[in-house]
Amino acid sequence: MAKEVQPIFILPEGTQRTTGRTAQRNNIMAAKLVAETVRTTLGPKGMDKMIVDSMGDITITNDGVTILEEMHVEHPAAKMIVEVAKTQEAEVGDGTTTAVVIAGELLRRAEELLDRNVHPTVIAKGFRLAEEKAQEILDKIAEPVSEKDDAILRKIAGTALTGKAAESSKDVLSEIAVKAVKRVIEYDNGHVHFDRDHIKLERKTGGAVESTELIEGIVLEKEAVHPSMPKLVKTPKIALLDCAVEIKDTEIDAKIEITDPSQMQAFLNQEETLLIEMVDRISASGANVVFCQKGIDDLAQHFLAKKNIYAARRVKKSDLEALSRATGARIVTSLKDLTSKDLGTAGMVEERKIGSEDMTFVTGCKNPKAVTILVRGGTEHVADEAKRALTDAIGDVAAALKIGKIVAGAGAPEVEVAKELRKYAESFSGREQLAISAFADALEVIPRTLAENAGMDPIDLLVELKAAHDKKQKWAGIDVFRGKIVDSWAAGVIEPLKIKTQALSSASEVACMILRIDDVIAGSQKGSHGGGMPPGMGGMGGMGGHGMDM
Ligand code: ADP
Ligand code: MG
Repeated sequence: MAKEVQPIFILPEGTQRTTGRTAQRNNIMAAKLVAETVRTTLGPKGMDKMIVDSMGDITITNDGVTILEEMHVEHPAAKMIVEVAKTQEAEVGDGTTTAVVIAGELLRRAEELLDRNVHPTVIAKGFRLAEEKAQEILDKIAEPVSEKDDAILRKIAGTALTGKAAESSKDVLSEIAVKAVKRVIEYDNGHVHFDRDHIKLERKTGGAVESTELIEGIVLEKEAVHPSMPKLVKTPKIALLDCAVEIKDTEIDAKIEITDPSQMQAFLNQEETLLIEMVDRISASGANVVFCQKGIDDLAQHFLAKKNIYAARRVKKSDLEALSRATGARIVTSLKDLTSKDLGTAGMVEERKIGSEDMTFVTGCKNPKAVTILVRGGTEHVADEAKRALTDAIGDVAAALKIGKIVAGAGAPEVEVAKELRKYAESFSGREQLAISAFADALEVIPRTLAENAGMDPIDLLVELKAAHDKKQKWAGIDVFRGKIVDSWAAGVIEPLKIKTQALSSASEVACMILRIDDVIAGSQKGSHGGGMPPGMGGMGGMGGHGMDM
């Protein structure tokens, strides 16, 4: 082996590679760094982050997934952690920080086991066993909830809002969140359907968060295109167009050469004729309201106004789809196809001034399962954060009703599950037992962080908390405002079971996945700054260009 050997290149030049423990350590380090970033935001006393993008736009938030998305993380393992937050967001809408913090802590505990020479596959197996058992325990300790439990549902929404910028208007927002979810959720023999798209959140700057309102119908951030269009249409017949009411958008891009003024006039006349034809098509269908995804020519606006038709242009595709669901209108892609059958109906279409801007309200819709929450806030940042907090609250209430099970929060379920998992670990021997116990220890990162973020002594508090759980107080949690142990159920800190089960399964999954990687091969770098490996994070020793000494 010690003989001089020609280097053998098995990878293209520029490829970076790390293997074995180095790869593992780098990945774990990157993942832990990501988790560490959001850790300080956890819980009602968590801090906010200010993220400034390359354009200088700022976002101020406490929402895990928003922070991670805005950070534009580059390291591959760190990206996997960001994915955990995204999955949590998609599945529940809340609990993103929790999921990421647990994933980070699982990896930290795994690293300790690696240092004690426990093989990664053994750790991964232990984690998987622990996760499965944890799900079982959570399901057992959860309490039932139904649509009738309004007070509890409002507490769930309130828990999601606590500690966010919108907290001062918690009561108003909780009620709106519960009402909105109950409006759109559908039950069909035993199955519960909830589509988040049915609740439209429209943000409007100006006015206090307190004046956020729930509108039964669709609200568009659009005004009528022409001032002399009607401000109110009582029996609207609504056309939804995915095509422009303009000439230049026609398929044929003709080149016109004009050599004398009369030709110019003829051309203009012809253009006018075409536009009149388009407006006639709309009015012939019977429509008196038009929502157009594309542009509407100035002249066409004038003709539409003359025919007393209300029209708005450049309506977002998602809004057009919401309008289609709400009013029963079909989105038409060519004016030639528009018939009376494509039109939708509603109670009324109205242009109303909100703050300093005109908005279009489509209310009394055919399908009552369409609601809009008009989120207000003094500044853009406040309104944005209020909207994110409401999204969390809506997600939580819906998740609670979907599964029909809830738990108390404030660290209670994590400590309870950890306690039971330690008992479970005893039924295993040796290294697996170590891994299961490590999993249990990792869960306690939640109460520990809640305490830390509230400026309390995490060690004392955790000891007290565990003692309470040993005395069968399964909902003993942390009162972050008074710095002591409380029954979090009685304190009204209530969350859907799904937040916890989803956070555990994705955190455990990603931890196991990262643990099992012992080789990172990164293709040659694109651009100037290091491919997927930012300096200081990966420290890819690699063998790029040196070949492998065999
Ligand atoms: P996430 O993105 O994970 O939802 P949050 O910042 O919303 O992060 O914090 C959620 C954690 O805060 C949960 O563990 C929840 O139980 C806890 N929590 C929420 N409200 C309270 C409260 N009033 N007292 C103590 N803990 C709370
Ligand atoms: Mg939350």
